Amino acid sequence: MTPQPFFFRAGLVLLNVLIIAVAENATAQNRDPASLQGLRVALDVGHSLQNQGAGSARGIGEFHFNQATARVVREVLTSAGAHVLMINEDGDLPDLLRRTDLALEEKCDVFLSIHHDSCHQKYKQKWLVDGAPQEYADQFSGFGVFCSQKHPLAQVSRQYATILGQAMLAAGFHPALHHHEAIEGENRPFIDEAAGVYEYSDLIVVKRTAMPAALLECGVIVNRDEELLVKTRAYQEQLAKAVAQAFAECLRQGVLKLGTGAHLSPTPGGSGAPVAPTTAPEDKKGLLRRLFDRPKKT
Ligand SMILES: [Zn+2]
Repeated sequence: MTPQPFFFRAGLVLLNVLIIAVAENATAQNRDPASLQGLRVALDVGHSLQNQGAGSARGIGEFHFNQATARVVREVLTSAGAHVLMINEDGDLPDLLRRTDLALEEKCDVFLSIHHDSCHQKYKQKWLVDGAPQEYADQFSGFGVFCSQKHPLAQVSRQYATILGQAMLAAGFHPALHHHEAIEGENRPFIDEAAGVYEYSDLIVVKRTAMPAALLECGVIVNRDEELLVKTRAYQEQLAKAVAQAFAECLRQGVLKLGTGAHLSPTPGGSGAPVAPTTAPEDKKGLLRRLFDRPKKT
C-alpha cells in the first residue's frame, strides 16, 4: 500500500466533515418524531352532530370528515410526544367559546381546528346519489389555512398558519385558492397565496383563543374525487405528518414555545371570559352569531 499524499488525506477529512454537516442539516429538517415532546395541542373537531357544516358531494356532513381526520392527527401528534386535547370529538359541543375555554383550561400552547372545505353555491351542480339529489363542484380541490388578524397574538398566529401551509406544500398537497375570488361570501384576503393561507378574522376559534390558532381545511369534499380521497387513511396520515412537521418547525423557529399555555390570560370577550348562560332556545341567527362574529358559513 503506497502512502497517500497529504493533500489527498486532507481532502478525505474535508469530505467527511461535509458529509456530516449535510447529514446534520437533513436531520434538522426531518426532525425526530419525538421533537413534539412537551407541546400541548388543542385539536378542535369542526362543527357538530347538530350542525354538520358543509355537505359532501355524496351528501355526508362535514363533521364526519373532520372527526375521522382529527383522530389520525391526534394519533400522529401523540406518537411524536405531544399532549393532545381533542375538543368536540363526539360532536356534542357546538359552543365555540366553550371550546376555546377548554383549550385555555388545559394550558394548551397551540390551537388547531380541523375542517373540510366547500365552495360558493353558484358553482355547484346537481347529480343523483342512490336516487337522492346531491350537489358537487369538481373544479375546486386542495387545502386552505385560515387565521385571524384580530387574534391577541395575531403575528404569531400568522407565522404558525404560514408554516402550516408550507408544511402541507412540502408534503405534496396543493392549496385551494378559490376563497380569494371577489364575490360575495368569498373575497378572503391572502396572507400567503403560495402556501394557501387566508385571513378570516372573525372566525371565533381562530380569533378568541388565547393561544396561537389556525383552522385547516383538509380538502374539498364537494369535489367528487377529493371527497373519496380525504377519507383514505393514506391521505389522513400524510396530512397528520405535515401538521406534526409544522409544529416541529414552529418550535424550531421559536414561533411556538413549550409551556406558553401555562401563562396565557383569558382573551377579552373570548377564551376564559365568563359567558352568559343561554336560557332560551337560540334562533338560527343567534346560533350563527355564536359560530362566527358575522353570520357566515365555512
Ligand atoms: Zn367547516
